[in-house]
Amino acid sequence: MSTAAGINVSGIELTLDCAGLTVLIAGTTTAARHTVRRYTAGGATVRRIATPAQFHPRLLDAVSLAVVVEDPVTAHDDGAPLGEQNWEPLRAACRERRILTASEEPAATGGRVTLIGGGPGVEDLLTVRAKQALREADVVLYDRLGPYRTLPQLAPGAELIDVGKTPGHHPVSQAEIEKLMVAKAREGKQVVRLKGGDPFVFGRGGEEVNTCLAEGIPVTTVPGISSSIAVPAAAGIPVTYRGVAHAFTVISGHQPLTSAEFEALAKLGGTIVVLMGIGTLPQLTSGLRKAGLASSVPVAIVEKGYSPEQRTTVTTLGEAVTAAGLARCTSPAVVVIGEVVRQHRDFSATLERVLAQPLGAS
Ligand code: SAH
Repeated sequence: MSTAAGINVSGIELTLDCAGLTVLIAGTTTAARHTVRRYTAGGATVRRIATPAQFHPRLLDAVSLAVVVEDPVTAHDDGAPLGEQNWEPLRAACRERRILTASEEPAATGGRVTLIGGGPGVEDLLTVRAKQALREADVVLYDRLGPYRTLPQLAPGAELIDVGKTPGHHPVSQAEIEKLMVAKAREGKQVVRLKGGDPFVFGRGGEEVNTCLAEGIPVTTVPGISSSIAVPAAAGIPVTYRGVAHAFTVISGHQPLTSAEFEALAKLGGTIVVLMGIGTLPQLTSGLRKAGLASSVPVAIVEKGYSPEQRTTVTTLGEAVTAAGLARCTSPAVVVIGEVVRQHRDFSATLERVLAQPLGAS
């Protein structure tokens, strides 16, 4: 666990190593709860005052940094009126002693749920808005497709609950996830539901939003970078290409398509991107061939995009099942079907070619 707390100086994020530092945090318990957590998680010794009346210059002894959490809500934690919050004496005493002072926004009050798209699994593909929501979270419900490894730093002190589903193994059911989300928000908590990719692409995000709305819980969503576009891109495959593919269709391999759907797809002629398609690759490839796609159509299987184990297997529709078997392709993987696959570039750590016939660049 790192010994650091993120701070923002004029819009620039700094990581402050605060192991062994004493930090005075001024602000009501509710408003300052995230600030206290961040500095505590960062290894600082935290000294607390809730109101200006509690300030005494002696409290600054051994303090390296004072953080003021300006709370526009002028009420004590017990509901009694607080009156004017005037932290100027504290700031003046800090200036006199050359102690750094920082200001932070108060933590939000009132339970709510934020659905966040976490992107394809690495922290630097999270949006700025997603990072902000994580920083303010009291509880994070996550699965392992998003950037979960760095959650202790991204959401310092938040309760982290793994509700991840791996294929064939459902530790927490969808109904239980939704119940938990609602229950935590009812406790007045800022609940973040962190999902892989974009929350509305095969992520059951829509259902979670509807559950919150039905339960009267305020809910917002933060879009994420979907693996359906980003994982092909990691292998250098553009899902559209002028003169090659002017449409792309994203399908789930979770449930096999009907023959009518296969026929419509084959007629459309664009790129086909399949998520959750490893288990149903035989049905998928035979369905598309029956619907009229040539067995020579190039196929790429991109596994574990953006991780050190990222691997691309390039094959054809006719050979894909054999190739995936030989290369032992496993989930998570994105399958790309169409002429754009010829554009693939070796951006990944390893590139495996399991080819029946060579695919030259067109
Ligand atoms: N909402 C997600 C998709 C959830 S379905 C999104 O928009 O990306 C889960 C499927 O996404 C996986 O089975 C796999 O097909 C794909 N996937 C997600 N992250 C991936 C990654 N890093 N590498 C390869 N495939 C990934």
